Amino acid sequence: MKTHKLSAQEAYTKLQHIKPDVKMNEEFLDQLTLYEAMNCELDTSSVLYKQFRLKKVTEKYPELKNVPRDVFAADPAQSHSAEAVYRCRKCRRTLFRYSSILSHCVGSGAAAFSHKRPSGGPPAGDQSQCTSYFIEPVQWMEEALLGVMDGQLLCPKCSSKLGSFNWYGEQCSCGRWVTPAFQMHKNRVDEIKHINIAALK
Ligand SMILES: [Zn+2]
Ligand SMILES: [Zn+2]
Repeated sequence: MKTHKLSAQEAYTKLQHIKPDVKMNEEFLDQLTLYEAMNCELDTSSVLYKQFRLKKVTEKYPELKNVPRDVFAADPAQSHSAEAVYRCRKCRRTLFRYSSILSHCVGSGAAAFSHKRPSGGPPAGDQSQCTSYFIEPVQWMEEALLGVMDGQLLCPKCSSKLGSFNWYGEQCSCGRWVTPAFQMHKNRVDEIKHINIAALK
């Protein structure tokens, strides 16, 4: 795929021409489709890659214990970055970064997996019907998430209810199933955009 610049399907078709009885494991084909969506480079910051890896967590660790620590995003309250962050509306505690949002409406990359999704829901890009942000798990959630299949997500500072999680998936208000799901209600958090002072000079 990389050398000859082929899509996963083109590579498979080519292989079938050479060896007609060839059968590819469906899961491997999914991985190749993901590889294609990442332009044949492993990009660990890619939303699609993060979603893929989170899905694997429940397969590899069905008891949801000893989950690799790097599945959790660094706590944005403990480090600074130029990225937009989201804070608890009630106590202003910083909760997650913009790059932690795993949107299920992210355009063409996600559309590669659309054959697997139930029909219905808005076209890619339209998030107006989504009342929650679906995000990757963040370090402060660890205690609530490990060894537990589903539950509420509470603010680590003021304990107000922010959303919910389910390792086996939840349905978004737009109709899409997201697996696993860590969702924060949009009306419980505020987006804070940082102004890059250096860029204004
Ligand atoms: Zn949605
Ligand atoms: Zn709070």
